[in-house]
Amino acid sequence: MKSMSMAVLMATAVWAAVGYGSLPAVAADPLNVVTTTTDLKFVAESVGGSHVKVTSIASGAEDPHFVSAKPSFMMTAREADLWIAIGMELEIGWEGLILEGSRNPKIRKDSKGYLDASQGVLRLEVPTEKVTRTMGDVHPLGNPHYWLDPLNVRIVAKTIAGRLAELDPGHSEDFKGNLKTFQRNLDEQMFGKELVAEVGGDKLWLVEFKGGLQGFLEEQHLTAKLGGWAGKMLPFRGVEILTYHRSWTYFTNRFGLVVADEMEPKPGIPPSPGHVLALIEKVKSAHIRALLMEPFYERKAPDLIAEKTGLKVLVSANSVGGDESAKDYFSMIDNVVDKLAGALKPASEPERK
Ligand SMILES: [Zn+2]
Repeated sequence: MKSMSMAVLMATAVWAAVGYGSLPAVAADPLNVVTTTTDLKFVAESVGGSHVKVTSIASGAEDPHFVSAKPSFMMTAREADLWIAIGMELEIGWEGLILEGSRNPKIRKDSKGYLDASQGVLRLEVPTEKVTRTMGDVHPLGNPHYWLDPLNVRIVAKTIAGRLAELDPGHSEDFKGNLKTFQRNLDEQMFGKELVAEVGGDKLWLVEFKGGLQGFLEEQHLTAKLGGWAGKMLPFRGVEILTYHRSWTYFTNRFGLVVADEMEPKPGIPPSPGHVLALIEKVKSAHIRALLMEPFYERKAPDLIAEKTGLKVLVSANSVGGDESAKDYFSMIDNVVDKLAGALKPASEPERK
């Protein structure tokens, strides 16, 4: 446990002198954590509890590839005990500038106060050939939008809890407990309470990870008990959709949807008229019913395709704080799942509870 800071001691003395008795017991200063994104902030707060104070640089409403490295962000980073980044080059355009501008040796990339949250996550689209500019905004370490797979968020939570325990060993039991609660909540959101109670989250993720969840549930006569996001998305396995940017890959991979094409002809390259025409043909011939996009992209081209084909344009945040309903990670994924399930269900079928 850290000793009480001088400021707290002085404040206590002043407080007592003016006759308000003593301040409530302050165990220790919470760790000052700065995350690059709001999703990391949510996870860090969940596992850190009262032992952390977390600030996010990005707000969740902007394109995370393009955050401006404002001096105020450098001031925020200056106070940090721990900096947590998504990594895999998501923040390549701005993270280095903020870290450098912060002049905070605690969060230098080679120190304990710097955490790349991508270590240990399941990576997709890792290029097998040399990355060139002509490929668009392709990252050599793989697609960095990995937080849209709940399994990866489960892994990230463990990584963060581990680092918090290293920095604040006195509270390691609390971090462990918080991690357990967080993972349990996540598992219940993913598979439904009943199934998690019966099988256990670890086991469910293991069979899911191996690609055998459906088989396992059938074998154990548990299919009817599958709830949560996985239950809602089950009827849509193999269904083709469009996305705007290559940012939903981890989500579609986890829930078995197929991304037939993207609005961007290459990652980070805006849609050209020729590409839009080709998409209109594709949507018609493949009977694609929905397009998923973030609120910060231009709606004009998607709306044009919708007008010509009846495609449903689903605008959904994929970061906490990205829209009104994305209050935390759970409600953010809830929202995406509900929009997709609503748009993709056959007109005659009642909604799955
Ligand atoms: Zn991207």
